Amino acid sequence: MLERFSLLEKRFQELQEDFGTLKKDLVQLVEENHQLAHENHHLRQRLDELTPDSAKQDRSSHDSSEQSNDASVGEGYDNLARIYEEGFHICHVYFGTPREEEDCIFCLKFFG
Ligand SMILES: [Zn+2]
Repeated sequence: MLERFSLLEKRFQELQEDFGTLKKDLVQLVEENHQLAHENHHLRQRLDELTPDSAKQDRSSHDSSEQSNDASVGEGYDNLARIYEEGFHICHVYFGTPREEEDCIFCLKFFG
């Protein structure tokens, strides 16, 4: 009995370590995502500044071909959405902590 308990305790500690690593990876991912989104926004603004109005119309017709690129981004986004659905914060403010029943305004920015 005692042996089983210490075994369980050890496995629990391992799980906790795993979770800690996972959380760190996730934080990094979110930060990266944040940075990329910011950069993307900035670059699009620059592009708009540099693109003559006549060329902009042409750009919108290209958007459908860009979707394959967006898919990989959407995957990480889906994962975050799932984590949120499972009841954890995905925002940088409370990241990884259990979410109460109500929605978090910081988390919701990710879905905005
Ligand atoms: Zn949150």
